[in-house]
Amino acid sequence: MALRKIRTEEDEVLKKISKPVVNFDAKLQILLGDMKDTLAKAEGVGLAAVQIGILRRVVIIDVGDSHGFMELINPEIIERRGEQRENEGCLSLPKKWGVTQRPMWVKFRAQDRTGKWYEAEGEGLFARCVCHELDHLDGIVFTQRLAEGERVYKD
Ligand SMILES: [Zn+2]
Repeated sequence: MALRKIRTEEDEVLKKISKPVVNFDAKLQILLGDMKDTLAKAEGVGLAAVQIGILRRVVIIDVGDSHGFMELINPEIIERRGEQRENEGCLSLPKKWGVTQRPMWVKFRAQDRTGKWYEAEGEGLFARCVCHELDHLDGIVFTQRLAEGERVYKD
């Protein structure tokens, strides 16, 4: 386990599209461990592999709710309901905030670290976090998801 450097906004890697994971090998287990350590140190609620410079479709989430710590490999949102407008930030965009528009509830499918597919669903912060992290896999950051009339501000 090791800490990895979190890439920030000036890093072009954040705009790139991550590739699917095909090998559920030892290297993936190390990546997941390092991501967990890095997220804990940064005190964040979610992290995508691209944020540490690895262009693979790997996300970890822990928003402190009943879902607990989750690993999402090759995730896809399969259903969304409602909408929410809440303040959002990102470990890769330090000190920047903005009110985004996201679905209130999402259901997704993803693989676990052994390659087994599973489905999960959730609302509120969990749904927001899933959407935010999955966007990273497609090179999108929250400042591209601002609710109408909102802007990015710095604290
Ligand atoms: Zn982010």
